[in-house]
Amino acid sequence: MSNDTFRDLSQNPLVQRLGVPRIPVLRRHTPGAPLLDGPALVGSVGAGRFAEPIRALLEDAGVVETAEGKVAAVVLDATAATTLDDLCAAQVFLTPAVKRLAPNGRLLVLAPEPSEDPEAAAVAQAFDGIVRSAAKEVRAGATANLLVVTPDADVASSVRFFLSGRSAYVDGQVVHVAAPVGAQPEESDEERPLAGRVAVVTGAARGIGAAIAETLARDGATIIAVDIPAAGESLAAVANATGGTALQLDITATDAADRLLAHLRERHGRVDVVVHNAGITRDKLLANMDADRWNSVLAVNLRAQLTINAALLASDLLGDTGRIVCVASTSGIAGNRGQTNYAASKAGVIGMVRALAPQVAAKGVTVNAIAPGFIETAMTAKMPLATREGGRRINSLRQGGLPVDVAETVGWLGRAESGGVTGQVVRVCGQSLIGA
Ligand code: NAD
Repeated sequence: MSNDTFRDLSQNPLVQRLGVPRIPVLRRHTPGAPLLDGPALVGSVGAGRFAEPIRALLEDAGVVETAEGKVAAVVLDATAATTLDDLCAAQVFLTPAVKRLAPNGRLLVLAPEPSEDPEAAAVAQAFDGIVRSAAKEVRAGATANLLVVTPDADVASSVRFFLSGRSAYVDGQVVHVAAPVGAQPEESDEERPLAGRVAVVTGAARGIGAAIAETLARDGATIIAVDIPAAGESLAAVANATGGTALQLDITATDAADRLLAHLRERHGRVDVVVHNAGITRDKLLANMDADRWNSVLAVNLRAQLTINAALLASDLLGDTGRIVCVASTSGIAGNRGQTNYAASKAGVIGMVRALAPQVAAKGVTVNAIAPGFIETAMTAKMPLATREGGRRINSLRQGGLPVDVAETVGWLGRAESGGVTGQVVRVCGQSLIGA
């Protein structure tokens, strides 16, 4: 049984006979699982240069291509599309293809960056509308996402993520992929894509942070789990479960960055993935807001990230293939009643990520934000039933996400091979109508 009783009940054929819609059970990654659990269909509009490498990637992963029957994934390389006729060709491919998409299938479209030519720019942007709409149409746990790519982009790690069960709750997203920043790393083992990498996770004692630590460790990373001293016992349990180390640290303390850097220097001599996950809420309407609530939320959710990033980037600890992943929130995109302080901090994180990304590219470092929507945690379990049910259902997948869904997205962005993805905000929200 999950936290979501309605979803569990909806699996029962007797309940379905009453006309209750079935809430899909999402396909999630398990160790050793294949990239896809069925064949795929790959198409292109014009002479896109990505279709062939994607076919090779699929073949490598043991996925066969088929012209008939149900498919687990449909991939359209529309990167050569520049005219309205190309848009018509895309529909001719997509309509029968989408009809063949199996439950928990994946629709992945690759489109070009908008050009200066008005028609070509219109066509490039049109794919945004197509994919966001298709994501609302595909059923039974299927998702649709768009990669907007430059001609020299390396899309492999992003294609793998979006086709796999790792992206179960990432739906209706548009991600820009360019040529990788820094050196091109060697391809890693798909079962342990973070092998040999050192990762810091703040707020790792419970909830989403604990799931991030466990998921990154499962994928081969060495974990430094950070949380406040009061959470020491559960922090130690997470550190032990991941085979990593625990660092009791209030990230708002004036010496927090120094202590974190000293720990990294002494134990590992470097860090590869920094996950700013620690966060708090202190909700109050703006009209009733007090400085304490305002300042404490900004201190944990934003100021600590700015301070630690500045210290890390000024040091030699975060080198080529360094990855900074900042947890924001859909509240920082759409706003939320009673959360001006929280939304300020989370929107602030998005602003910080966009400013930092181009500044650190030359170092080979990427910086991205993840904006979770409704995630099933102890926090959301405490919500009043009506608010909780609302949060769960107002997205294309009609359910809340799990902490592991955020964690898998961190894992993708944390890979050395994901150097082409930077300055992005990826929502893990099942295409929530909030912030859409
Ligand atoms: P949580 O409250 O369960 O866990 C947060 C952790 O951060 C706790 O272990 C806490 O002790 C730690 N922490 C708080 N202040 C700290 C400090 N000063 N120094 C070090 N550690 C500190 O929260 P969660 O639901 O797991 O959320 C994790 C992140 O995801 C947060 O940034 C949150 O804003 C964001 N988020 C959560 C949801 C959701 O639905 N749960 C949705 C959107 C965004």
